Amino acid sequence: LPSRVADRREWVSRWLPASCPQHAACNKLFNHALSVRETRVFGVLCCGFYFDFSHSGMATDVSQLERELNALKAQMNAIFAAAVDGLVLTDERGVIEVFNPAAEAIFDYSAQEVIGRNLGVLMPARYGLKHDGFIRRYLQTGERRIIGIGRELVGRRSDGSEFPMDLSVGTVNVNDRRIFIGIIRDLSSRKAIERALEEQRERLARVGRISTLGEMASAIAHEINQPLAAITTYASVGGRLIEGDRALDPERMNELFQKIEEQAKRASEVIRGVRGFVQNRESVHSSFTVDEAILSSVELFEIAWQRQRVKVDLEGVERGLVITAVRTQIEQVLVNLLHNAAEATAGMARDPRVIVRARADENTARIAVEDNGPGVPEMAAEQLFEPFFTTKPDGTGLGLSISQSIMTAHKGTIHYEPGEWGGARFVLTLPLKA
Ligand code: ADP
Repeated sequence: LPSRVADRREWVSRWLPASCPQHAACNKLFNHALSVRETRVFGVLCCGFYFDFSHSGMATDVSQLERELNALKAQMNAIFAAAVDGLVLTDERGVIEVFNPAAEAIFDYSAQEVIGRNLGVLMPARYGLKHDGFIRRYLQTGERRIIGIGRELVGRRSDGSEFPMDLSVGTVNVNDRRIFIGIIRDLSSRKAIERALEEQRERLARVGRISTLGEMASAIAHEINQPLAAITTYASVGGRLIEGDRALDPERMNELFQKIEEQAKRASEVIRGVRGFVQNRESVHSSFTVDEAILSSVELFEIAWQRQRVKVDLEGVERGLVITAVRTQIEQVLVNLLHNAAEATAGMARDPRVIVRARADENTARIAVEDNGPGVPEMAAEQLFEPFFTTKPDGTGLGLSISQSIMTAHKGTIHYEPGEWGGARFVLTLPLKA
């Protein structure tokens, strides 16, 4: 026989495939492994076949192979058992094959309970179905919705309770079979911390608003006093007209009443604005334009600024830049900046001025509030955003630090730069609505 087989590889490919059910795998293995020996015992030709694995770098006997395989399995099990993240292996239909102890703890299921079931059991129904869709779409089109990319999803524990989780899925081919490996991280505690931080920020923001209002108290009092004084004047004019001997002119009286009504409305507007500003409203995100927010913040100062003869220039405010944010908080930042700017310029002998600009810069809204006051000395510039840093006798030093935390929470920024006229310029950036 051996003499008929000049090339062993050829021999193997000619003979073995016919008898071997797993053609592809065997062919690969024997190409390097088969050796044939012949010997004559009492004149009879005997042939021996050896499967020698040493050529392919594998263990020389099967038991050695088994030992190595077991060691590998033990290593894999140790990795699965020690992983802090939940590891879930599924086949390409999403049927769970391996469920490690961390996954057991996260989902409150034992491995036996879920192995053999569809991955959907670990997600609320609305996501379970979608996940099947992800896998199917990936297998059909290679489109990656979740494979190889981390995603924040909702998981479901055995008692039906839901929790936020981060799921990233990897895929690997083993013996022509595709396996999906899901790595799961429970985000509940991180979310709870984020929520607590958000609440704290909201409380701090409210304290900031109240203290800003405290600082503005005399201006606000003046804003309310002015319409009240006007009402008093109109009422007494009306009273005198009625008391007088002259015949009442209904048109004149009507005009007086209208003026009284206007002024009363004006006072109640001021109160409404102040109340809205300080209210502890839920931090709900909404979409609004930057110019709307700037206008309503400027309105709070209108009368006070007229009195201080501070001019506000809004010509550089581009209209229609839409952002999605907590409106009260963005207005709070603007009010802080406007208030600081007005304070810095007030009392300046000539032409106190506050200039507000807003424009789009790629995907960002850029808002600048500038004044022509004395500006910020270089030494102080580094400390501006530190809590309690103030150079004012009655300042709290909270305005800018709260503004900064609000901007960060909105994925925005705030920074200081020297302005064009020697005053201060504070620049805000916020992502524009996509
Ligand atoms: P407060 O206004 O209560 O002092 P802020 O945090 O709003 O607190 O401001 C901190 C400090 O930053 C102010 O005391 C002042 O020294 C400086 N500052 C803020 N805005 C301006 C400005 N427009 N011009 C000059 N200095 C400013």
